[in-house]
Amino acid sequence: MFERKGYELKPNPKTGRYRLISGNWKMNLNHLEAIQLVQKLYFALRDVDYAYTEISVHPPATDLRPIQLLIESDKMRFSLGAQNCYYETNGAYTGEVSAGMLAKLNVKYVIVGHSERRRIFGESDEMVAKKIQAVFSEAMTPILCVGETHDEREKGLTDEVLSRQVRIALQDLTGELASKTVIAYEPIWAIGTGNVATAEDASSGAQLIRQEITEMFGSSVASGVRVQYGGSVTPVTAPELLDAEGVDGFLVGGASLDAETFARIIRA
Ligand code: PEP
Repeated sequence: MFERKGYELKPNPKTGRYRLISGNWKMNLNHLEAIQLVQKLYFALRDVDYAYTEISVHPPATDLRPIQLLIESDKMRFSLGAQNCYYETNGAYTGEVSAGMLAKLNVKYVIVGHSERRRIFGESDEMVAKKIQAVFSEAMTPILCVGETHDEREKGLTDEVLSRQVRIALQDLTGELASKTVIAYEPIWAIGTGNVATAEDASSGAQLIRQEITEMFGSSVASGVRVQYGGSVTPVTAPELLDAEGVDGFLVGGASLDAETFARIIRA
């Protein structure tokens, strides 16, 4: 009924990479509220807003099925994303959801290793690596989150932390799969704090990430990898951050819960 015609996603002419802006709703919105948000977002965007930006929404697991049905029935130009998955295929893992279950819902992107999962639920780099394998084994794309804490930054450990997180997470991948991974540089001091990083911070994080990937897989893989910035992005800070060298989009938390605000970020 609401089919959008006359547009096709184009790569950023400067980088050849496709921009991706993702809304991570975290543990917010039941499925009825989620449906309302997606409808409002759809009506807030115009055709041109989709031209250079792929948009993914990452609702809580209980909302995935209704949002999948909404997107597909109304042919909305949103990609469906999940916030997490477990790496085993099935079995006695109470409360967990497998990559295969997400794939059956036509989930395209799965956030892996978000700092809240690492900090609150004790996810190690090794678990993150297994989750990435699981996501790829179901033909979905992981959005790997990496980033340093305020303390690590103060101690000059940012490079070390980012290279460790990237290296362990990608170590078992082929170059082909590594190049398909989306990496979200999310300095932990900027997440949900209102302390947004500068464009220079975002660029330098993206550069450190690509440097590690170059060492592991070579420069052509590194130049294919999309790097998002995440951490207190708002419509005011978005234009400058999106222009930052090496940044291919955003992972947005709080600001993605309001349709108009998220739409203004997408229009950046
Ligand atoms: C996030 O959770 O990934 C995030 C970036 O949150 P916020 O935008 O609220 O800082």
